[in-house]
Amino acid sequence: KNFENVALIVGVTGIVGTSLGEILPHADTPGGPWKVYGVARRPRPSWNADCPVEYIQCDVTKKEDTRAKLGALTDVTHIFYVTWASRSTEKENVEVNGLMFRNVLEAVVPNAPNLRHICLQTGTKHYIGPFELFFENQDREQPYPEDLPRLNVPNFYYTQEDIMFEMVKKKEGLTWSVHRPDIIFGFSPNSVMNIIGALAIYAAICKHEGAPFMFPGTKEAWNCYAIGSDAALIAEHEIWACVDPNAKNEAFNIHNGDFFKWKHMWKVIADQFGIKEYGFDEKAERVTLVERMKGKGPVWDEIVKKHNLLPSKLEDVAGFWFPDVIFGGDAFVSSMNKSKEHGFVGFRNSKNSVKTWIDRMKAYKLVP
Ligand code: NDP
Repeated sequence: KNFENVALIVGVTGIVGTSLGEILPHADTPGGPWKVYGVARRPRPSWNADCPVEYIQCDVTKKEDTRAKLGALTDVTHIFYVTWASRSTEKENVEVNGLMFRNVLEAVVPNAPNLRHICLQTGTKHYIGPFELFFENQDREQPYPEDLPRLNVPNFYYTQEDIMFEMVKKKEGLTWSVHRPDIIFGFSPNSVMNIIGALAIYAAICKHEGAPFMFPGTKEAWNCYAIGSDAALIAEHEIWACVDPNAKNEAFNIHNGDFFKWKHMWKVIADQFGIKEYGFDEKAERVTLVERMKGKGPVWDEIVKKHNLLPSKLEDVAGFWFPDVIFGGDAFVSSMNKSKEHGFVGFRNSKNSVKTWIDRMKAYKLVP
């Protein structure tokens, strides 16, 4: 069958890659049904096996492997770049993430004659700066508009944008879009940052031990208005940018469009696990999630066995450091005006979004 649109998802088992892989092949998806190639480094996980994508195992940090495997995909029309590598400093992040993105573009752009669009996913750190400067740029205009000037600090998002701008110049008619989500609500256990996954595992451990499900963050994070970005909504936003001429060659924020407070969301999560005792102890000194989860590997092993979950090790499935960073202070808020003005009116109810992804984790036997 000849497909009009052929997607290459780089990061197909990631938090948004998973949603793209599910949505693109549907007949009623804009531009669809799409033929879909999906790339990740590890072997295909069993929970992804039913997804109708052609799975390609490739480590895109490796230039030759990337050129051989992705350069052969001559029918690709759209690239969805939804991956990243995490290193301990932003200087290293710039190096490795620049290299990965460049390897992919140098493999595909010259070899895919019908390539029309590159969709790059970055995030709100475009405005705040990298994690190491997270709470140091709080006086900037919020909700962040997309055209807020770059900060004068290294940021791998800037590097990736610049690589993309350089590459699109090499091919006439090739367009681009940048998508900047806030914290993402999704379900992939192969994601570096999955806040709902980490909190669901924390809740499951509290339930198993009969311990209260206590908020591990600061008072500011408990009480402030926060935002989240549903993984399927981000996928819809990225697909929209591929098919709508109004969205070409622009950067867009993308989040659910509502506000919530973690103090209310906490009940939503507790309810999903049947936990009665939960909350925030304002008077106690902060105990981070990383500290709370130290030594809990054997407890998780018991939970996996008792509930017949997909085999997993605690250190592989939950990045507890990520909620700890997010819960370190007030939330950062970006503006959805530009997306709406350009024609994207999708939204999610954040509480329902969280419930949906926890249900999905349960259905796939990732949590009890
Ligand atoms: P994830 O960490 O969820 O997914 C990464 C995907 O890429 C996985 O499929 C992973 O599979 C694959 N991958 C990782 N390294 C390689 C490699 N070397 N070669 C090939 N595949 C690889 O990605 P996100 O969606 O979280 O991140 C994409 C962008 O979104 C990043 O810039 C991130 O900063 C940004 N963002 C993320 C947020 C979040 O809450 N997650 C919030 C806001 C922005 P495998 O490990 O098997 O290779």
